[in-house]
Formats: sequence, structure tokens, C-alpha cells
Amino acid sequence: MRMRFPSALKGIQENFQFVYGIFLFILIPAALVINTVWLTKQTSTVMDVELQRKASLAASVFSNALPGYLDDTALLQSHVEGLVADNGEIHSLDVLVPVGEQFRIVASLDTSRVGELSTYIYNTLAWQTEQTIAYQTTSAALSTEDPTALGDERFWVVVRPVSTSDGEKIGIVSMKISSQVIDNLTQSNLNRSLIMLVVSIVVIVLLLANNTRLYRNTLLLKKLKEVDEMKDEFISMASHELRAPITGIRGYLQMLLDGSFGELPDEARTKLDMVSQESDRLHSLVEDLLEVSRIEQGRISLEMGSVDIAHIVKLVTGTFQQQAAEKSLELVSTVQPDLPRASADAKRLQQVLVNLLSNAIKYTMHGKVTIAADEIRDKKPMIRIKVSDTGIGIAQKDRDKLFEKFYRVKNEETDKIVGTGLGLWITREIVRMMGGEIYLDSIEHVGTHVTVLLPVAGQSHPDKK
Ligand code: ADP
Repeated sequence: MRMRFPSALKGIQENFQFVYGIFLFILIPAALVINTVWLTKQTSTVMDVELQRKASLAASVFSNALPGYLDDTALLQSHVEGLVADNGEIHSLDVLVPVGEQFRIVASLDTSRVGELSTYIYNTLAWQTEQTIAYQTTSAALSTEDPTALGDERFWVVVRPVSTSDGEKIGIVSMKISSQVIDNLTQSNLNRSLIMLVVSIVVIVLLLANNTRLYRNTLLLKKLKEVDEMKDEFISMASHELRAPITGIRGYLQMLLDGSFGELPDEARTKLDMVSQESDRLHSLVEDLLEVSRIEQGRISLEMGSVDIAHIVKLVTGTFQQQAAEKSLELVSTVQPDLPRASADAKRLQQVLVNLLSNAIKYTMHGKVTIAADEIRDKKPMIRIKVSDTGIGIAQKDRDKLFEKFYRVKNEETDKIVGTGLGLWITREIVRMMGGEIYLDSIEHVGTHVTVLLPVAGQSHPDKK
């Protein structure tokens, strides 16, 4: 199936990281290999040139001194041997003088050849052209002229005509210099470069492999985020859709219970009361879910102002008096006289305190629930509102997770208490949005304190420096 151009382009875009990774994977090691081979070749060529120059220089120095000794063959021979003894790289050295068309060896490292005649082509060539001839060979023979016994070792041969100071040609120096030291050096450099190359390639492969893993993790994270967003959208949409029918059901239930459709038999009323309680539960779940999605999507706008805490505390406490009395709980509120006003959104602060008081009453079986407000002066003056109870408390292991979405403590005591696990999360988010902080302290079977700190009105916002 042919891929249409835009989708092919999209495919490349999406897989760019991957293609880029493969490209680097091939390109970097290849570049390293090419660089190593090229550098080694260059070094070897430079070394060769240097060796050739060295051989020519040695031949030149020797031949300059030669005219003085040419008549004294014994002295010449000892000079040849002395020069070779001082320069280990010289493998063979012959001194030749012309005899008609040929040349006679008058001194040589290979003493058995002294007196022999030579017709070697390079000798003739150097003599006739009056030029130094240099060439490479792998022949390990002691003579420069023997092309047999080819081996691995490389030599530079330099054949140089010898002249007197008047320019009269009197002989030839033929010298063979081994390039083994240089070759060994080049080889060891090559070996070192190869080791470095292998190490670099391994490092690059590991880095790229890691990069690929990171890339996969990034993709996974992206997918997870997408799924998370889809989930949030679904919850938001589903809660909206559920809201209308639940409102309808609750409305009709209330009318039934009010007797709008006639008196109900006792049993029917009892059952309807249960249905009503369940529909209230459903209603608060849907409201909590809607609130969560509003917070997560940043759709909550606060009306910040200067709030009278005493008034709000009184209002909220009043709402819960009956509920507390039904459970025989004492509900007490104390507010510090002349408490400064807090910087908050009055409606949202009310929602926060309703959540906290509702929890305190819900999770307290006997004893007392207190709501207290005062001013503390730490780094900055803050309004502290503390909701305390003598309820079931919370174990240490659960305390760190309480502010997570949907987290509910699961034990025998909380088993029959209904809730969504969203209240504390919503509460904390709202408090933070108002520039406040929230803490929870609790001892199991003793009670719980939840403290809300809010900025005093007129002071700068703690988060907005
Ligand atoms: P829920 O709707 O379950 O009450 P919350 O987010 O308000 O959800 O609370 C999370 C959990 O924290 C609750 O399920 C409960 O176990 C525990 N909790 C909250 N407030 C109190 C409290 N005052 N005393 C004991 N446990 C509490």
C-alpha cells in the first residue's frame, strides 16, 4: 500500500528521534574508523619520508668524508664498520669504485663481498645521472644489491655517487636502512588508536542505547499523559451528564417524601429515605468529581477579598450543629477577639471549612469537635484555623497519602463511613490557590487536627513575592 506524502512526512516527524538515533549510530563510529585509518596512513607516510631523508643524509655525510679514505681500503673498511656500529638502523653499507663499465666493492659490511665486481643497475644509474637514488625493499640480504630473501621488514636503500671537491666522480656509496623502528612505532600507534576506537564505539553504542531507552520512556510518558487527559475529560463529561438526572431524581424523591403525591405507607417511606440517602451520596460524588476536573483544568476563578473569619466560622458551625447533636457530639468554635481579616475567597473558604468539619464529625464517634481561629506571627502574620476532633484518628502509614485523590483509609472503623476520598485533595488545592497552607496531625484512636493557614488581608501573597 502506498503511503500518502503528508502521512509519510508525519511518520518521519514522529520517528525523527529514532531515525536520528540510527543515523548517529552509523555516522559516529564510521567517522571514527575513517579518521583513525586516515591518521595512521598519514603518520606512516610522514615517517617514511623522514626515514628516506635520514638515509639520504647519512649517505651524504658519509660520502663527503669518503674521498680522504678511498685509497686506504683498510681504514675505509673500519670506518664502514664503525658507522654501522654507531647506527643500528644501517643494515648494509657498500662503497664501490668504477672499474670500466662495472664497479668494484672496496669496503662492505659483508666483508666476503669486498673485491667483488657489481653491475647492479641502480649503481650505474646513480653514477650516470650523478643523482642520489632512493627506493624501498623488503629484501633482508646484507647487500643492497640482492633482491632475494624478501621478508616483512622494510628498508630504504640509498645509492649516492661520491665526488671530490673538484667535482670528479670517484665512487658510489650504497646504504640500506631499516624502517623497523618506525614501523613498530606506527604499528603500536595503530594498535592504540584501534583500542581507543573500540572503546569509543562501545561508549557511543551504550549512549545511543540509553538514548533509545529514554526516547521510548518519553513516548510512554506522552502516551500516559494522553490517557490521563482522556480520563479527565471522560470524568468531566460523565459527571456533567450525570448531574441533570440526579437532580431530577432527588427533586422527585423530595416531593414523594414531602407527601406531594399523597401519604406514603411507613415501609415505603423507610425505603424511600434510604434511596434518598443513596442519591445524596451519588450527588456529592458527582459534585466532587466535577470540582476535581474544574481544578485540574484550571477553570476555577477565585474572588479574593478581605474575609471576616469570625463570621464564616459562625456560619459553618451553625450548619453542622444539628448533625453534631444527632451524634451527641459537642461542637465548639472559638475565635480570637479582634482577629485580623484574612485574604481569601469567602465562598471557597466556607467550602474548605465545611469539608473539614464534615470530616471531623463523620470520623468522630464520641467527644468533641472544635474549630478555633487565631493569628500567628511566624515570618509573616497568618490566620490559623484549626479543626480538631476526638475521633478515630489516622495511622502514620496513611497520613502521607491522605491528600492524594481517591485515597481513603481502609479499616474496620472506616468501613461503614461513606466518602469519595476527594474531599482533602480538593480542600488542599483550594487552600493553596488562596495562597495558604494546610497540615494534618493525627493520633490513631485519639483524634485529628487539621490546620489551615491563610495570609492576613493587606499583606503580600506568600507565594507571589
Ligand atoms: P472522604 O470522602 O473519604 O472523607 P477525604 O479526602 O475527605 O475523603 O478524606 C480522606 C480520608 O482521610 C478519609 O477517607 C478518612 O479515612 C481520612 N480522614 C479525613 N479526615 C479525617 C478525620 N477528621 N479523622 C479521621 N480520618 C479522617
